[in-house]
Amino acid sequence: MAYCDECGNYDQAYPHQLSIDGSYQPDLYYYWDYPLEEDYDWRAARPQHDCLCEICFDILNEEGKIKWKECASSQTVQ
Ligand SMILES: [Zn+2]
Repeated sequence: MAYCDECGNYDQAYPHQLSIDGSYQPDLYYYWDYPLEEDYDWRAARPQHDCLCEICFDILNEEGKIKWKECASSQTVQ
């Protein structure tokens, strides 16, 4: 299961959860902090976060707080 460390959204209810609340957001995409495999890095802005939902990810990205690794195949800036 994924759990957004920023806002608390999650994509699966706990097995013994009594009620589904408004933070149950199974349709959102969740981003994990796997810097070796992914090309984004939010550790400078959110060093404690392991997972972000797409809403929080987009907000951070718009604020310029997510670093994107250079991708040699997609961009050539000379
Ligand atoms: Zn979130």
